[in-house]
Amino acid sequence: MTVSSPRNYDVVVAGGGIVGTACALAFAKTGMHVALIERDILGGGATAAGMGHIVVMDDSEAQFALTRRSQQLWQSLSSSLPDAAEYEATGTLWVAADDEEYAEAERKHANLKERSIPSRMLSSAELASLEPNLRTGLAGGLLVSDDAVVYPPVVALHLARELQALSSHVLLGRSITSFGHGEAILDDGAVLRAPRLVNALGAHAPALTPGIPVKKRKGHLAITDRYPGFVRHQLVELGYLKSAHSISSDSVAFNVQPRKTGQILIGSSRQYGAEDPDVNHAILSRMLQRAQLYMPGISSLSVIRIWTGFRAATPDKLPLIGASLSDSTLCLATGHEGLGITTALATAEILACTFSGSQPPIPPEPYLPSRFETSQQTAEPIHQETA
Ligand SMILES: Cc1cc2nc3c(=O)[nH]c(=O)nc-3n(C[C@H](O)[C@H](O)[C@H](O)COP(=O)(O)OP(=O)(O)OC[C@H]3O[C@@H](n4cnc5c(N)ncnc54)[C@H](O)[C@@H]3O)c2cc1C
Repeated sequence: MTVSSPRNYDVVVAGGGIVGTACALAFAKTGMHVALIERDILGGGATAAGMGHIVVMDDSEAQFALTRRSQQLWQSLSSSLPDAAEYEATGTLWVAADDEEYAEAERKHANLKERSIPSRMLSSAELASLEPNLRTGLAGGLLVSDDAVVYPPVVALHLARELQALSSHVLLGRSITSFGHGEAILDDGAVLRAPRLVNALGAHAPALTPGIPVKKRKGHLAITDRYPGFVRHQLVELGYLKSAHSISSDSVAFNVQPRKTGQILIGSSRQYGAEDPDVNHAILSRMLQRAQLYMPGISSLSVIRIWTGFRAATPDKLPLIGASLSDSTLCLATGHEGLGITTALATAEILACTFSGSQPPIPPEPYLPSRFETSQQTAEPIHQETA
């Protein structure tokens, strides 16, 4: 994309991942003149590394509100997406290996039902008939039918094109070296000025806004050759509860996704303190073994590519959306951990409403960066995680 370079904008957005592109477009739609800056390629960061599972999560009211609202926005957007975005309402099938996990599926079912989210419990036999390649002897599951999958980098590109069609600017191959107090300074020395700046750099956000509580959380994924019908829903194990989601140790979980191409994405892993992007073969092998435990036939499929990516993790597992404390021109849109594809659209909506002085459809307070102003991070609650 080519760009002319006027220096003054209404808002400058740093980062052309799914969050930055969604934010930039939402601002432009309210009439703002926007500059979106991406140092590499659009959607090439965590957005390309992620699974693209759009999932309603219910660990907390705040997480539920953000994921549900965003899922509704995805549903509205889906009809205008290009075919290459591979949006598909596969539903999520939460797999219960034993009675304890089945009880957790029932809890989740009741919770979702109370909130009018379509879901249904599956017996062991129903689970086997919906997903014949799962191993026998599983206790059952929960099918959440509104959940979907998408290929996120194509969506980021699509949103950026829409942004350009609204006469806003996309600056590619330019790295921001300084970001604050109404100014974005680029590596070629250009200075862009705006009364509002939005840091949407994902796991890189602290590089331009030091001190924010965002840590890198590395993940691995593998993708197979084409095996249409081998997996039919996004499948996620409910077994996280047993490991209680330690935020300090490495973990793997069974999480597989059917792509429209017939390929199967196999995930996932989580590691703190691993800053290098190299594939860690010990973790990868644990991840694949976990997948084989649930789907023995996976071992006979051909894996054609493996990669890693970095989630942007916060201490309370909610993103940072809203004004930064230290700089009145600066807003954050980061910290989405393993839900940034799901929640990008609602993140953008919250900030666009805030900027235009209207009330967002969901309360924005739980996501405000100011929550880390005080020492409110007490006990670590138990969380479920997907990819
Ligand atoms: C293995 C894995 C699986 C996942 N699965 C899912 C899933 O199934 N569902 C889900 O909802 N989420 C998932 N996620 C999370 C999701 O991918 C992320 O939350 C989301 O992509 C974050 O998007 P972003 O735009 O904030 O960050 P990014 O996509 O990382 O975008 C940030 C951009 O900023 C650019 N940048 C960095 N520094 C600069 C600079 N100085 N100047 C200019 N540009 C800069 C980068 O090049 C990058 O393109 C997964 C993540 C991983 C790692």
